[in-house]
Amino acid sequence: MPQPIDLSPLQRELDNLRLHLCICNNAGTCLGCQGVDMLRQQAQMIVSAASQPVLLQVAQEAQAKELLKQVQEMQERLLRDPEAAKALEELLRYFQAPPDDTTNH
Ligand SMILES: [Zn+2]
Repeated sequence: MPQPIDLSPLQRELDNLRLHLCICNNAGTCLGCQGVDMLRQQAQMIVSAASQPVLLQVAQEAQAKELLKQVQEMQERLLRDPEAAKALEELLRYFQAPPDDTTNH
């Protein structure tokens, strides 16, 4: 039996990220909120797609392609807006940063 996957550490990180990027006072209308919500949905989609039985592999592949398409569309949409591109850059930097970078000057 597949183990249930615990997404709570990721959810916590996404919550932190949202707090960090949010400029709409958590109303859910700014790019930070929307982008983080999108990431959250995508993470859940990836986990549920990847943990399905092998019989559903074809559906999974279709789902994966659809997911990639959505991500690409989101990126293209974001990159057309300079402010959004900056936020996306910030988002990516956050994910690439080492977890213990408390010594940055
Ligand atoms: Zn916000």
